[in-house]
Amino acid sequence: MLLLIDQDNVLADFSRVIYTEMCARGHRDRAVPPAKQTTYPIEEQYPPELLGELKSICAAEGFFRSLPPIEGAVPAVKEMVAEGIDVRICTHPIQAYRNCVGEKYEWVERHLGAAFTTRMILTRDKTVIAGDALIDDNPDITGSCAPSWRHIVFDQPYNRTVAGPRLRSWANWRAVIDPMLASVPLRTGAAGSVVGVGVI
Ligand SMILES: [Mg+2]
Repeated sequence: MLLLIDQDNVLADFSRVIYTEMCARGHRDRAVPPAKQTTYPIEEQYPPELLGELKSICAAEGFFRSLPPIEGAVPAVKEMVAEGIDVRICTHPIQAYRNCVGEKYEWVERHLGAAFTTRMILTRDKTVIAGDALIDDNPDITGSCAPSWRHIVFDQPYNRTVAGPRLRSWANWRAVIDPMLASVPLRTGAAGSVVGVGVI
């Protein structure tokens, strides 16, 4: 099974840090607590006059590197690889990519180990990436192609109306993934293995 896993708000707690940064910058009255986020993307829930602040928070040095892991995500992903699932982290960099791209890799290295960085795919169009399934909080993933993967919705307050398989927490990943393994074979994916050829 080739399993694509999104990073922000699936592995890394993006919305929580947006909220705390908005509060720290003096916008507590209009900051969106993660439990009350009703839109994807988050900027649709902020007034136009705060969009510059929102962009500034996301583009700042240290933002993506500092995101705390979503509860249970790190052990779950390690278990998946150890059990032979070919996990790839499929993530959408922001347009102001300079800090974001490197720090997304740093986050993976810090929490999952250096070898895991070889499992990263950065794209703003996930429909062009092949896979058996994609675990993603985005309720409406669109792009240039018909997706080859099945969307497993990672539960967040803003995607609760979407039908289909849903991962409510990382603690019960087997309940969602194991039934799919009946129809999709495992691939080799030893824990910590490097993906791709060469040492550079
Ligand atoms: Mg996401």
